[in-house]
Amino acid sequence: MPARCALVPPYILQAVARHADPEVRDAAIATLGLDRTFAVNRLLAGPPTRTAVAAPARLDRLLHDAEGEELLPGRVVRSEGDAPTGDAAVDEAYDGLGATWRLFDERFGRDSIDDAGLRLSGTVHFGHLYDNAYWDGEQMVFGDGDGQVFERFTVAVDVIGHELTHGVTGATADLEYRNQAGALNESMSDVFGSLVKQYALGQTADQADWLIGQGLLAPGVQGVALRSMKAPGTAYDDERLGGRDPQPGHLRDYVRTTGDNGGVHTNSGIPNRAFHLAAVGLGGHAWERAGVVWYDVLTGGDLPRTATFPQFARLTVASAERLLDAEAGRTVRAAWAEVGLVLP
Ligand SMILES: [Zn+2]
Repeated sequence: MPARCALVPPYILQAVARHADPEVRDAAIATLGLDRTFAVNRLLAGPPTRTAVAAPARLDRLLHDAEGEELLPGRVVRSEGDAPTGDAAVDEAYDGLGATWRLFDERFGRDSIDDAGLRLSGTVHFGHLYDNAYWDGEQMVFGDGDGQVFERFTVAVDVIGHELTHGVTGATADLEYRNQAGALNESMSDVFGSLVKQYALGQTADQADWLIGQGLLAPGVQGVALRSMKAPGTAYDDERLGGRDPQPGHLRDYVRTTGDNGGVHTNSGIPNRAFHLAAVGLGGHAWERAGVVWYDVLTGGDLPRTATFPQFARLTVASAERLLDAEAGRTVRAAWAEVGLVLP
C-alpha cells in the first residue's frame, strides 16, 4: 500500500498555497511539508507492524486528541462504548469509524480492516490548521482544516470510509499506488467510502449523492465536494482549489501526468463513474449487488498489484456473472463501455 494515503491530493494543496489568504496559505504549505515528511518517515520505518486480535467480530474504537501538536497518537479521549465527549471531531470520528466497520462486517463479512479484528484507532486535532486526513497504515489522522477552504476532516463519513478502505486494499489486493493501479486504489476507497455513507443513510443507488467529501469545503468555496463519482469533473470550480475539478469521467480524457503518482486522484474518476453506472444499472442498494462484485474483485485474489483498468473491468464482469447472473454481467460490461472501456 502507499506510504500514506492522504485525502487531499498535493495539486489541490499547492493551489491553496498559491491563492488563499496568508493564514490559509501557511496552513496549506505546512500541510504539504508535513505530508512529505510522513512519506519519508514511513519509508524509513518500513512496513507497519500489526497486533491483530483473533476474536469474534467486535467493534473496537480508540480515539485520541493530538491537541494541535504533530505527535501520534496523542491523548486517549474516547474508548469503545464511552459516551459522546461533546467534541464534534472526536464524536464524528468515532461514529465514522463505526459506520465503516459496520458496512464491512454486516455486508461483506469482513472483521475490521485486516479481517482479524484490528482496533480502529484515530487521532483528531492533529497539527495546526492541518488541511488533510490520512490512514498511516496503523491509524486514522484528522486535521481541523484551515476553516476558510477546508472544514474539519471528520465532517464527511465517506472520507473516513475512504481512508480506512486504503487499509482494506493494503491488506488484500495491495494495488500499487501509481498510474492505473493507483487510480484503481483511489477508486476503491471512493467506492467503499461512498457505500459507507449510503449504508449509514439507507439510501438506494438512485438516492445517493455519490459525492466524496460533501461538507468538507468551507462556505464560500465554489463547489459541493472534493469529487463526484456520478459526474467526475463537476465537484468544484474555485481558484483556491486550482480551478475546476480535473477528474475525467471517460477514458478518452485520461490524464497523463507524472504528478500525483501518475494522476491517481484524477484518473480514479473513470472507474468511479463505471461503478456508479453499474450500481444504478443493477438497481437497489449499491452495497447489495455492485458493491458485492467490486468487493469480490478487490479481495478475491485474482487482481494483480499492477492491475490496469481493462484487467479490473474484466474481473468485475466475470464476478457479476458468477455471483449474480448473466444479465448483471451485461449491465457491468455496459457500465465500463460507457466510460470508454469496451471489453472484447
Ligand atoms: Zn485516497
